[in-house]
Amino acid sequence: KPKVWSVAEHKIDKRLVSHNAIRVCETLQSKGYKAFVVGGAVRDLLLGMRPKDFDVATDASPEQTQRLFRRARVIGRRFQIVHVMFGPETIETSTFRALASASNEKDEHGRVLRDNEFGRQDEDASRRDFTVNAMYYDPSTETVWDYHHGMEDLRARLLRMIGEPSLRYREDPVRMLRVVRFAAKLDFNIEPATYAPIAEMADLLRNVPASRLFDEMLKLLMSGSALACLKGLRKAGLHHGVFPLLDAILEHERGEPFLTEALARTDQRVKDGKPLSPGFLFACLLWHLVLESWETKLEQGELKFPALFAAMDEVLAEQAERTAIPRRLTGDMREIWAFQPRFEKRAGKAPFRMLEQQKFRASLDFYELRAKVGDVDADTELAEWWREFSDGDANNRQSMLDGLR
Ligand code: ATP
Ligand code: MG
Repeated sequence: KPKVWSVAEHKIDKRLVSHNAIRVCETLQSKGYKAFVVGGAVRDLLLGMRPKDFDVATDASPEQTQRLFRRARVIGRRFQIVHVMFGPETIETSTFRALASASNEKDEHGRVLRDNEFGRQDEDASRRDFTVNAMYYDPSTETVWDYHHGMEDLRARLLRMIGEPSLRYREDPVRMLRVVRFAAKLDFNIEPATYAPIAEMADLLRNVPASRLFDEMLKLLMSGSALACLKGLRKAGLHHGVFPLLDAILEHERGEPFLTEALARTDQRVKDGKPLSPGFLFACLLWHLVLESWETKLEQGELKFPALFAAMDEVLAEQAERTAIPRRLTGDMREIWAFQPRFEKRAGKAPFRMLEQQKFRASLDFYELRAKVGDVDADTELAEWWREFSDGDANNRQSMLDGLR
């Protein structure tokens, strides 16, 4: 028995709701099914923000849903959902699911491996993570269905786990990362009972597949509140041993100024709606480790470039085991790192060749960042020279090079 809020009470501005999400709900409803916008989109709408994507929940099965739309595919084996596509927008439509119960397959730590059983709407609400993430918006009647006092918590700006927090973290340890991310991004508090078990349960994250940790890490970094998220993780004790990447980032004071600057810029870009390159971001995160190893090798008498390449390999190999950084990203990271010493050479045709490289821009941005925080070997004037060189036309460029002689 949900509490149903009217538009006069919840005040959602329907103009912020995706037309396509409305279309999906109306189409399903016209065939006699229930259908609601659900989850983070409803939370964001209640906060007056335009959601970045929309999920729909329905009592129609994936097959029944798929049949109603021209461009729709059923995806996923474990969690079957339907992607209903409209041009660039995809509405993720899922069938109400039952609670994780004893019958669900779990690993030896209690992590749920399968929960694809269909259920009633109230069950679907109970299996969601936080009360503010478990509300349903019906665009036709403009009502919000609230099973877990989500509205109250939203008004109090509180993240509260549905059910028994330690059990829910056991079922899915990633919820520990999610609560920290939402707290940072929404500027919410975490309800004490929801927060309390985290420090003790942090180790459970070790059992989560690396690819899932990587996805979550990326969401964290691209949330627009990356800096606040990382502080939150450190405060919650979620950086120890769990995430080598986070250890690397948070436990080396030396990397701190660079990282703080990089993340501040990242957050600003998200706020300005500018695109972000995950490769650049991860190159920033791991840079001081590369630098450290590179310097050690130089001290041991290795040559500049071979030493750098060996340092890159070492750092990436170390990360590969736990946080599965996809290959396309490590490729970008390597290019950006390998570019760094090349900014020192401005003789002959080399500068022109560098300009043509795909990762030139990103690498120069990276170099500028290093110069700004006073990285040894990175020089502000040199960074400015390269910026001017790359912005200039052919004549300017040649005279800049001639000026060096
Ligand atoms: P955002 O998309 O802004 O990061 P969101 O709340 O929409 O936040 P999603 O990952 O898109 O997060 O998930 C959509 C909804 O699915 C959530 O609001 C929540 O109700 C449910 N959900 C997602 N992940 C989990 C989880 N690990 N455990 C329980 N419920 C979850
Ligand atoms: Mg979402």
